[in-house]
Amino acid sequence: MSSTLPLLSTWARNVSPSPTLAVDAKAKALQAAGEDVCGFAAGEPDFDTPEHIKEACIAALKGGKTKYAPTPGIEPLRQAIVDRYLAEYGLKAAPSQVIVSPGGKYNCYLGVLATCSPGDEVIVPAPYWVSYPEMVKLAGATPKFVLADDRTGFRLTPAMVEAAITPRTKLLILNSPSNPTGAVYTRQELEAIVAVAIKHNLYILSDEMYEHLVYDGVKPTCVATLSKEAEARTITVAGFSKTYAMTGWRIGTTLAPAPIAKAISELQSQMSSNVTTFAQYGALAALKEKEKTAAALKLMMTAFDRRRKFLHAELNKIPGITCLLAEGAFYLFPNISSFGLSDVEFCNRLLDQEKVAAVPGSAFGAEGYLRLSYATGDDIIQKGVTRLARFCATLKK
Ligand SMILES: *Cc1c(COP(=O)(O)O)cnc(C)c1O
Repeated sequence: MSSTLPLLSTWARNVSPSPTLAVDAKAKALQAAGEDVCGFAAGEPDFDTPEHIKEACIAALKGGKTKYAPTPGIEPLRQAIVDRYLAEYGLKAAPSQVIVSPGGKYNCYLGVLATCSPGDEVIVPAPYWVSYPEMVKLAGATPKFVLADDRTGFRLTPAMVEAAITPRTKLLILNSPSNPTGAVYTRQELEAIVAVAIKHNLYILSDEMYEHLVYDGVKPTCVATLSKEAEARTITVAGFSKTYAMTGWRIGTTLAPAPIAKAISELQSQMSSNVTTFAQYGALAALKEKEKTAAALKLMMTAFDRRRKFLHAELNKIPGITCLLAEGAFYLFPNISSFGLSDVEFCNRLLDQEKVAAVPGSAFGAEGYLRLSYATGDDIIQKGVTRLARFCATLKK
């Protein structure tokens, strides 16, 4: 018998576990121990899934929709996804271009796996969603980070993208509205960035998970609709988790040009197969029962918008903090660099002293910021921001 086992794989040793889930877990553990924690770390709506969606899933389950389904999704759901892209963006596609996967996270990962090989480089705009660098590494490729800080509203310029491109660059990741900053690119800004990707013949992974969570009358842009050339190279990821408060259901969607969609479906057929069959009927109801779904979304957005404005105003009252007003998602990304502490230290002390949970910006590749999710109760936001102000006052000399 050998005394030491062989090393685990490169993949296992190099993966970084999700820092956002880690902060959230620590906050929940403190809470379970009886502490009064104000959690700003969670990346999910604090609302329950709308009733009609649950009912449709229950009916499907009772009706025996308990068997394997086609890998890329049940036919009526893929058709409904095609229909909604046409209705919302005028984008014409065939159901064969749609893949339903176990969560938008997995849709992103499969998009990376379908386009990137070892040695390839992927442009990852920072602040980035925590999973992109890890997905790129798991494909054997290398993430190239390009940081856009609050001076440019956390949005890249075409020149910044172009400067990061090398002969090895294969894929550009875009995420508007953004997690963690809530930043939304204008259509013109995206056009200019996508022109650079077209010039250098890159694939684009456009993560549009927060497309419906926009404020102030802002319109989201579906990158694939920018031009025929954009459509031919863009993998569009979206889903149900954030828009319909369905994070636990694990359903995301990909819309891609036919050859890429076929590759993604084949990868999925070996890695996970279909999304839980009866859950797909719930997703179908979310798209089909439009009025009920729209009413539920409106209710959620009214609450998010109120909290967004409140939190933004309160943060900017705190000496030493500056915060942009984000136009999308449910996050604010205040700058805390004036306090002379690392953001990790800031968050650790904030949690220890004041029982306020926030994720440090460095988890998203942007040192000197916090990510605060306002997908939580108004009372918690109010109490939490008061504590944050008190904490900051102890730092300022
Ligand atoms: C939440 C999120 C996803 C995926 O969510 P799932 O829960 O896997 O559907 C993808 N991208 C971003 C930016 C997100 O915030």
